[in-house]
Amino acid sequence: MQPSRLVAHAIARLERSAREKVFRHIGWDIVRPAYVQFVLTERCNYKCEYCSHWRMEQYADEISLADWKAAIADLKKLANPLAIDFTGGEPTIYPEFSKSSNFAGPRVSTGS
Ligand code: SF4
Repeated sequence: MQPSRLVAHAIARLERSAREKVFRHIGWDIVRPAYVQFVLTERCNYKCEYCSHWRMEQYADEISLADWKAAIADLKKLANPLAIDFTGGEPTIYPEFSKSSNFAGPRVSTGS
């Protein structure tokens, strides 16, 4: 990790810690998320032995790209930087995965 990124990471961590202390000691809710995980789809194209996803008889409805964009925009107003993890099922089979990951920003990871 580059020194500037390391310093930025340390400052963000200190800020989160301070916000949590304020909430615990004074009760002001200024705590902000540093990380969110979105289940883009419950569907999966693998059949891992230990997993229940591919055995599901019915999957939850998938949220539209417009709704994901609105949710991500709202979250970025609340907390920025924000690490976003797309998961599932297999998030890359969500029909508009590349568009949603482009919109989310540079700190995106998937589970597989
Ligand atoms: S959701 Fe993950 S663990 Fe489950 S079958 Fe798919 S790849 Fe495997």
